[in-house]
Amino acid sequence: MLIVKKFGGTSVANKERIFNVARRCIEDYQAGHDVVVVLSAMGKYTDELIDMAKDINELPPKREMDMLFTIGEQMSVALMAMAMNKLGVPAISLNAFQVAMHSTSVYGNARLKRIDSERIRHELEARKIVIVTGFQGINKYDDYTTLGRGGSDTTAVALAAALHADKCEIYTDVDGVYTADPRKVPNARKLDAVTYDEMLELATLGAGVLHNRSVELAKKYGVRMVVRSSLNTSEGTVVRGGSKMEKMLVSGVAGDADTARVAIVGLKDEPGVAFKVFNALAKHNINIDMILQSVGRKGTKDISFTTNEESAEEAVKVINENFSDFESIDVDKKVAKVSIVGAGMQSNAGVAAKMFEALYDSNINIRMISTSEIRVTVLIDEDKMERAMGAVHDKFALGE
Ligand code: ASP
Ligand code: MG
Repeated sequence: MLIVKKFGGTSVANKERIFNVARRCIEDYQAGHDVVVVLSAMGKYTDELIDMAKDINELPPKREMDMLFTIGEQMSVALMAMAMNKLGVPAISLNAFQVAMHSTSVYGNARLKRIDSERIRHELEARKIVIVTGFQGINKYDDYTTLGRGGSDTTAVALAAALHADKCEIYTDVDGVYTADPRKVPNARKLDAVTYDEMLELATLGAGVLHNRSVELAKKYGVRMVVRSSLNTSEGTVVRGGSKMEKMLVSGVAGDADTARVAIVGLKDEPGVAFKVFNALAKHNINIDMILQSVGRKGTKDISFTTNEESAEEAVKVINENFSDFESIDVDKKVAKVSIVGAGMQSNAGVAAKMFEALYDSNINIRMISTSEIRVTVLIDEDKMERAMGAVHDKFALGE
């Protein structure tokens, strides 16, 4: 079997953990498998690099940020190769250039386009464990790029797809995918399996387990993913195709406090306004999530939308630079999204109503609502997020 194993920052945070990961990989290697390992930077090293950069320049050029970021992952893979060699197993570390992993040009938010697999195959044939830097790519200018925070998951799935791996294991500091974040909802339960679509919604909604683009890729190429803990040997959660799992209506509840609401008040009520607003935002790569447009009155209307907190200020700047025909624009960062996700809800009426009832029972006001086939999301006050998650989790009896 060819197995891609990805370990996040906490799993390689110190010497003991590096050796722990090395041993886990060596077990598979000694069982005769081909092993490709993808690593993140150690612990919170990426955050430390950001602090260092901002201490020098509060608005560092994105290209230079990527140049800086890549050393975090490069450090992990080199140390890991040393650990494996120390344990008597041949291993080799490779960065994005050496592989090579080609990406789009956008610094800080690049997408992988193509991965050359020859070098990795060659090293595997020589019976080496191959350790690859997560998070990074190279663009057509031969510059380093990065895939966005948490992007190493995506590197792992992309490699698994390119190498036609038998499975892609994502090791993290939790046992798998839960019905809710166990730090926020104590009686949350681990799921044995979720569908790609469910995981995609959960990841996008800030379940915090997987980089959402890794799930998109896994779905597209049918990569079998397993999310499991690097600290114990429990089975984890399988992410795979198919529909409804465990005969459950709702599989999980997600909360995302990194949400801001931007409201543009008094726009002209005429054709093309929404297009112009969101086109301007799209040109600046600002990701929009929920959108609400008010009923027009006296020739004007309001448009509000949500985005992550960092993008909110930039959104305001873009709107102010491109438009003058509105009354006011306002940002509220004290909001959070709470969502329920489940492949089973497509064919069941009343799921949304049940969620709203749970919030009503807890006296929590809903400020915006959006839905997809397998998800219902509400925007509420940020300080009520955990209480809302608990109430909804209980309402659907997800802990049982
Ligand atoms: N080291 C990067 C980050 O902290 C990438 C990753 O961990 O996946 O975002
Ligand atoms: Mg992560």
